[in-house]
Amino acid sequence: MQIKFWGTRGSIPTPDPDRMKYGGDTSCVEIQTSGGKRLILDAGTGIRRLGMKLITDSRGPISSNILLTHGHWDHIQGFPFFAPAYIPGNSFTFYGLFKADGRVEESMRGVMGELYFPVHLEAIAKQLHFQDILEGTREIQGITVSCCVVNHPQGALAYRIEHDGSAVVYCPDTEHTPDELQPKLVELCHDAEYLIHDTHYAPEEFDTHRNWGHSTYEAGIAVCKEAGVRSLVLFHHAPEHDDDFMDDLLYRANQDWPHCIAATRDLELNTLRTDTRQFKAIRPEREVQVSGPEAGFRIERQFDTIYVLCPASITVFSSSAFGRRILDSVKEDISQVTMDFEKVERLNSVCLGILGEVLGHTQKNNVSLIFKNVNEQVLEVLRMTRFTEIVEVM
Ligand SMILES: [Zn+2]
Ligand SMILES: [Zn+2]
Repeated sequence: MQIKFWGTRGSIPTPDPDRMKYGGDTSCVEIQTSGGKRLILDAGTGIRRLGMKLITDSRGPISSNILLTHGHWDHIQGFPFFAPAYIPGNSFTFYGLFKADGRVEESMRGVMGELYFPVHLEAIAKQLHFQDILEGTREIQGITVSCCVVNHPQGALAYRIEHDGSAVVYCPDTEHTPDELQPKLVELCHDAEYLIHDTHYAPEEFDTHRNWGHSTYEAGIAVCKEAGVRSLVLFHHAPEHDDDFMDDLLYRANQDWPHCIAATRDLELNTLRTDTRQFKAIRPEREVQVSGPEAGFRIERQFDTIYVLCPASITVFSSSAFGRRILDSVKEDISQVTMDFEKVERLNSVCLGILGEVLGHTQKNNVSLIFKNVNEQVLEVLRMTRFTEIVEVM
């Protein structure tokens, strides 16, 4: 795989002459496989230049997948200036974290909202597709993409891209609590060749910026050591840090662990590995606990209907094991899934993600979905998230 850094800054672009070596544009990274397949990570201002290159190189319709980590401005603000999206016949699919209170499409519609931009998203809607996703592993154009939620205000995803036996992890925005690395992220990084990690703050700046959602090279190095990653790529540079400061920061990082690179403007890296070892897909921690009968849910077949008694525990409801058991039960001869909410008192956004997956799966298989015994509070959430417009609620 070839990795190209079109945007490396965090927070806001830095078009200052003394900040251009380490990049003036905000987050956007392109990954291309040897077979010419392409993934784009984030749509910060760097995507504008990438878009121009795609048009220059194209010999026909352009189609690409864009993986968004989250909706903060520095990761989406380049999208309205991504010229290929305006050309009929091109096709772009945006992937992002399912959220009850703001799905990927709404976030992208927002940057082109009436108050902010002269062109509305509707004008280019034919070229665009949106996929709300949850933690897990999926194939996108023959590339294995895994993701997990990381600690960041409003939440963010980290992505692992695997192809030809190599793996690269992209985690531009996250903060680790002192003395504890995020286990899911460490697992996602397992044995990767590069970890592109948030190193926004210098170590001496971190204490005064706790809970701002960002990290240091020390945290990035710790993840690399724990997960067996070959190299750390310093990324999401603070706009305050000029090139001299960044040179020094990189030097200090390499004093700690001599496998650090800092993302510079237009830096290109290649993965080298050629073996084909299997990487472990991420699994939710609680899977083992929720698969037994003690988990408090029941899934059974009644003629051509799958009856699901939903669990009272919000944690069990939120586990992907619960969602997967429902999906696995939908076979060809099933015509209906009935989910009984009798024991469910409330829902959180991860529960809604599970419901979103079940809904998508049932729609794809022409199976009707019914929610029954829904209390007022849950019904309100289902209304707000527009499930009631699609699913029959009794
Ligand atoms: Zn950011
Ligand atoms: Zn952010």
